[in-house]
Amino acid sequence: MKKFSKLIITWGLIFLFLIILGFFYNRSIDNNYLYLGEDAPQPTQLHPLVEEKKNLLLQQATDLNINLVITDEIRTFEEQNALYERGRTTQGNIVTNARAGETYHNYGLAIDYALINEAGDYIWDTTFDGNNNGESDWFEVADLAKDLGFEWGGDWSGFKDYPHLQMTFGLSIRQLQDGMRPATEVIDING
Ligand SMILES: [Zn+2]
Repeated sequence: MKKFSKLIITWGLIFLFLIILGFFYNRSIDNNYLYLGEDAPQPTQLHPLVEEKKNLLLQQATDLNINLVITDEIRTFEEQNALYERGRTTQGNIVTNARAGETYHNYGLAIDYALINEAGDYIWDTTFDGNNNGESDWFEVADLAKDLGFEWGGDWSGFKDYPHLQMTFGLSIRQLQDGMRPATEVIDING
């Protein structure tokens, strides 16, 4: 009997500890994120901060005489699924491993870039040095973007997505799928 009550107290304390931990964890989430539930509407445009940083990136690239172009911004679920099928059930090369909802593009938190050469064509050449400063324009853009707060797909350890720039706001794809959104979205809408 004594052993049994000891067990109850031990588990009771563990349970209490987890409740307290959960309380503080939720509070910290409430400060940064917004939980809109599983039916959370999909954003229809880039997050305001991503939009602002994208425009700064374009300006800074122009200042360095780099011809930068943004080829992809927000994608709807339908567009993402169509892209996923490319090279699988439709013609072309495989361009993504992400289905609808599995990329930050679907939440207005990612953009893709390319360069424009002398002939005016879009190029994905990471060695191109259009401004003749001895450095790859592609990596110069990546450095500018990272200084602006973007995460660059070229830095990923597994599959490298060189044109890809994203801002996660500390949210995982799973959390976004579950209906969490960066809290700044609301602040920007109201203010
Ligand atoms: Zn991308």
